[in-house]
Amino acid sequence: MELKLNYIDGEWKEALGGGKREVINPATGELLAYTTESTENDTIEAIAAAKRSFYKTRQWRDTDGQDRSDMLLKIADIMEKYKDELAKLDTLDNGKPLRESEGDVSDAIHCFRYYAGLITAPSGYTYEVNNGFGKMHSYTVAEPVGVIGQITPWNYPLLMSVWKLAPALAAGNSVVFKPSSNCPLSTVKLFEIFEEAGLPKGCANLVLGSGGSVGHTIAASPDVDMVTFTGSTKVGQSIMSDAVGNLKKIGLELGGKSPNVIFADTDIDSAVEWAMIGTFFNQGQVCSACARIYVQEEIHDEFVEKLVKKAEAMTIGNGLDNPDIGPLVSESQMNKVLGYIEKGKAEGAKLMCGGYRVTDGELAKGYFVRPAVFDNCTQDMTIVKEEIFGPVCSIVTFKTEEEAIAMANDTQYGLAGAIFTNDSARAIRVMKEIRAGIMWINCCEPTFNQAPWGGYKMSGIGRELGVYGLEEYQEIKQVNINLNKGVLGWYEN
Ligand code: NAP
Repeated sequence: MELKLNYIDGEWKEALGGGKREVINPATGELLAYTTESTENDTIEAIAAAKRSFYKTRQWRDTDGQDRSDMLLKIADIMEKYKDELAKLDTLDNGKPLRESEGDVSDAIHCFRYYAGLITAPSGYTYEVNNGFGKMHSYTVAEPVGVIGQITPWNYPLLMSVWKLAPALAAGNSVVFKPSSNCPLSTVKLFEIFEEAGLPKGCANLVLGSGGSVGHTIAASPDVDMVTFTGSTKVGQSIMSDAVGNLKKIGLELGGKSPNVIFADTDIDSAVEWAMIGTFFNQGQVCSACARIYVQEEIHDEFVEKLVKKAEAMTIGNGLDNPDIGPLVSESQMNKVLGYIEKGKAEGAKLMCGGYRVTDGELAKGYFVRPAVFDNCTQDMTIVKEEIFGPVCSIVTFKTEEEAIAMANDTQYGLAGAIFTNDSARAIRVMKEIRAGIMWINCCEPTFNQAPWGGYKMSGIGRELGVYGLEEYQEIKQVNINLNKGVLGWYEN
């Protein structure tokens, strides 16, 4: 069985301690590969390589924007060549239906192309200024931050890697990257693509290992200038406290428990279909899943009946066979989700469908959970308050717009939200009241490389994607040029 290695300073390397970890296919419980198990010393070596690359050899940092752009386009073209392999790796490793993995790969390729274009676009401002010292020009220059540590989760293995790597590299930084040890395979392939493209040695380093060791070392290192993290709010908090030592810049994309507010004047069939996407896409393992569904009481019965019918009809199976829903990512994630379902029942929510492990035939070997719809939920229930990260939604009924807004905002999170209504003034009113970084009106879930992604409140700090996503990886320098000739005459003697 193949052993996947670290990529440090342009070399594929086994971890110094020689340990290895199993990578399991969640649809079959079978072994897919081994990864080398890195610890603190491997991470220190990778950070040193990134530091040398940025501060000494400077090959990538000093490459001009046009040539960096060409390299990102080359990476995108090579990804295109391997797109079927990349998609299959994510499905085998994560379990998601193949068509969803194919969509992720396509988005990832376009993300590299987007940042290849953006890095060549005009940037910065020039001002003519005079504050008593004579006329000057003041202008801004964007520069790379330096050594960037990046840590990602398992739910969109390739896409989350690319959302971080493409803008960081576009800006000219050097990177130390740690993917989730649950689903590292497509990221390893991405680094093989970097090598094939001829990305300079040391500017992109991959370290495979656990968060507690590799991730913590990255976040705490005084030689890392910035750390960006996508994952749970709890780990985000520990990254923030680790980062305090050298006051490194941070970017945090964290958890959510997003509301979906459905008004009685909406097109119910369309709202039902989007609610399915908002809840069950990617097996519900989506940070922005709008699984807290608020339905206005006039349409409650019809909405629930239609949603349950659709959820019951979902096909479930091995992601390679393109079912509607695949397995959860791991046995422990499955058990966590089943635990929430039990809690929902115990706290008085009404389970309308699903909510159990599927053990028919071959599926018994994997981690399959039948999509669950809970009705008669209230704000104080655990399944309404906490992020479940699985195919479970909870339905709460509301009477008025004010009540819906209050319940939507009654959460520590603020990642996303959705509104369904045919009243455009109401849509805009409610959108403005919901405290979240991403809002969908009459739709749910799609993301775009051009648009900023990130949360309010405990869902994070900073933004990925779009222009903001590039700026996160840049320092802005103010430069002032004296336009006057000769002596200013400020001190007469
Ligand atoms: P997680 O447990 O927080 O892990 C995320 C990453 O952090 C993994 O690579 C993990 O390593 C690493 N890690 C764990 N402990 C660490 C520590 N002490 N220091 C540094 N790194 C550490 O999250 P997950 O279970 O993988 O992913 C699910 C979470 O991600 C959900 O809460 C979801 O909402 C969030 N998410 C947010 C967004 C967004 O855009 N806001 C997008 C996707 C997912 P190992 O697991 O390899 O040990």
